[in-house]
Amino acid sequence: MQVIVIGAGIVGSAVAYECAKAGANVTVLEAGRIAGATSTISFAWTNATAKRPRSYYDLNVAGMRAHLDLRREFGGAPWFTQSGSFEWRNQASDQATYLENFRQMKEWGYGIEWISRAQLAQMEPDVNVTSIEDGPISYFPEEGWVDPALYCAWLLRVARERYGAKVHEFARVSAIHEESGRVREVQIAEGTRFLADAVVNCTGGWADAKLGDAIGIPLASTIGVLGLTPPVALTLRSQLHADDLDLRPDGAGRIMIHKIGVDAMMTGANLLTLGGPQAETLLQAARQVLPALDTVGLEAIRTTVRPYPEDGYTCVGSMPGLAGHYMAVTHSGVTISPYLGRAVADEVVRGEAHADLDDFRPDRFFQIGL
Ligand SMILES: Cc1cc2nc3c(=O)[nH]c(=O)nc-3n(C[C@H](O)[C@H](O)[C@H](O)COP(=O)(O)OP(=O)(O)OC[C@H]3O[C@@H](n4cnc5c(N)ncnc54)[C@H](O)[C@@H]3O)c2cc1C
Repeated sequence: MQVIVIGAGIVGSAVAYECAKAGANVTVLEAGRIAGATSTISFAWTNATAKRPRSYYDLNVAGMRAHLDLRREFGGAPWFTQSGSFEWRNQASDQATYLENFRQMKEWGYGIEWISRAQLAQMEPDVNVTSIEDGPISYFPEEGWVDPALYCAWLLRVARERYGAKVHEFARVSAIHEESGRVREVQIAEGTRFLADAVVNCTGGWADAKLGDAIGIPLASTIGVLGLTPPVALTLRSQLHADDLDLRPDGAGRIMIHKIGVDAMMTGANLLTLGGPQAETLLQAARQVLPALDTVGLEAIRTTVRPYPEDGYTCVGSMPGLAGHYMAVTHSGVTISPYLGRAVADEVVRGEAHADLDDFRPDRFFQIGL
């Protein structure tokens, strides 16, 4: 079976790896570099906290478990760090939602516990605990983060070397061609055509594009911003989530900073400057929590598209109107991708349908007159 995977971000890399492992002849066609788009400008936190409804929470938990499976399978995972995270809310108006989330997560069996300021200070001495108001602090020991470029590199290397997959970078797909209602060939911009029994569209924030005979899905993507400091002599290991601010180590002493309020300042994925208001807002917020950042600026500030299918939820499954055309697009793709890769391989290569994906099928965007 010839499977063409379009896109080599974290979703496409997982899909390619699992389909190749399941026995398909896999070819990956990537418009740019492997992991050159959204996946490497991601906070990349593996979590299911506050994910609703239950089916979407379960999908994220399945992703978290699949990361552990993958680590076992590879005998280690240089791309995955599972050192837990801490969360608190200083805004009084957020407390009720925060407490309700704790209750719900506990009831659903998620790893979550309350800890005191003194415990946090002991576990992460770099944190200025006086910046935390009186509300409770939650600790999530099972959460972690991923280095997406390493994840994609490892999965695609093994897909190629062990399972014979082919990976083409700088190969933008311009058209999918059909024959008798089935996908037949995939064409790239410079003209080469690849025979296909199935095509899995993993183009993330570009999944709304019509590619020849294949339609896209409606997206409601937003813009994300990440700041990165230079190496700083901190011992921080965990992630910190303080109101809408997210902080974590990003290797070699760098701290990664994300703030939803800064994402909301963006009207497009424009290049930002290190002296601009977005960089300043990120730094000011981060310094409240990590005073060691007082003497450093940002080394980089990056923007990209956050891929959201129109209703915000994962879109995975056969596309209507063209047999063999399959969609795999999601936000929280870092968390979900290892499970999504397995599920897509089961459905596309092994012919085994996943009932747990029924809430996430593409058909929901194409139902007329309901
Ligand atoms: C700031 C920010 C923070 C985030 N935080 C988290 C988080 O904490 N946890 C989490 O789980 N998720 C998070 N996400 C979301 C997560 O990063 C994405 O869901 C995930 O990276 C999507 O992966 P992807 O492979 O679908 O997309 P991408 O990495 O964008 O890959 C899609 C690929 O398709 C290629 N492509 C597009 N069109 C074509 C074509 N015609 N032909 C060939 N190739 C094509 C592109 O070049 C690209 O490489 C965050 C995102 C952002 C931006």
